[in-house]
Amino acid sequence: MSSPFHRQDDVRSSSFTFGQVPSVRAYQIHPTSRQLRGYIYRLLVGVGFIAAICHPSTLDAGWRKPAGGPSASGAPEIILTFDDGPHQEYTSTILDELQSRDIKAMFFWVGHRVLRGKKTTAQVDLVRRAVREGHLIANHTVNHVNLCATDAEEAAHEIDANAHIYQRLTGLPIIFFRSPYGARCKQLLRMLKERGLSHLHWDIDPREWFHRDAEQVRDYVVRKLRNLNGRAVVLMHDTKAASARALPDILNWIDEENRRRQLEGDQPTIRILDASTLVNAYLTPAMPHWFGQTATRYVYTLSDTLSRLVP
Ligand SMILES: [Zn+2]
Repeated sequence: MSSPFHRQDDVRSSSFTFGQVPSVRAYQIHPTSRQLRGYIYRLLVGVGFIAAICHPSTLDAGWRKPAGGPSASGAPEIILTFDDGPHQEYTSTILDELQSRDIKAMFFWVGHRVLRGKKTTAQVDLVRRAVREGHLIANHTVNHVNLCATDAEEAAHEIDANAHIYQRLTGLPIIFFRSPYGARCKQLLRMLKERGLSHLHWDIDPREWFHRDAEQVRDYVVRKLRNLNGRAVVLMHDTKAASARALPDILNWIDEENRRRQLEGDQPTIRILDASTLVNAYLTPAMPHWFGQTATRYVYTLSDTLSRLVP
């Protein structure tokens, strides 16, 4: 039986040629001034790229805020989103937790995790499980590339190949996109517009990828939720143990806080929205016609697709 997913080689358009004989310049010992300028330029580009990766918030200015739009009632609402998976262990733990509380989240997944390696089958199963349990799958590129630090051809490939991978796996259109590192530039905005993709940024980021501490994740998110007015998109990573461990504590805190608010009647309770709520909010007449048709098909074919996916 053929595999439902491709090897990465099948979807890449790289023209790298291996085994080429090095040119004479490769054996020069003393660099020329032109070469020196080239080294310095590459060093500066490299430093800039590393700085961008280490400080994603410097790149996210300009995305829609609040990321999920306003709360209709003005009451606090959150949408849970998880990036960079699927991860065999932590995605599974997070799905268990969400299922036990009937919460529907959004997963921004990268293609390379389902393309190769011994764990691929398990991760493909997680993709199908997430769809079966009502979560939304969204596009986060194949290789988690900073799309504003790469050329247009590579950027387009990263978006399109990942859409292809997850559409094949889920049988559903991929409606939402999140730019790795929050990178934002004209090139990316044009590509998203051409493809009718909606970028979903975030409002609450506990940065567990940096400190890796579950307690810090819980404390940060709780502090933000305690003072939340309106809607907020929460960003965590289903590739990080800290988020998988913190999630039950955060959800327990919300339950306790809502009980307290109901008793005291001093504040509206915090609602956890089904991520698919955003689909209608983002469908606007300005989007390309084909996208509208695809989204309509999404609604009507969902039950068929789910029945095909259920073993
Ligand atoms: Zn990411």
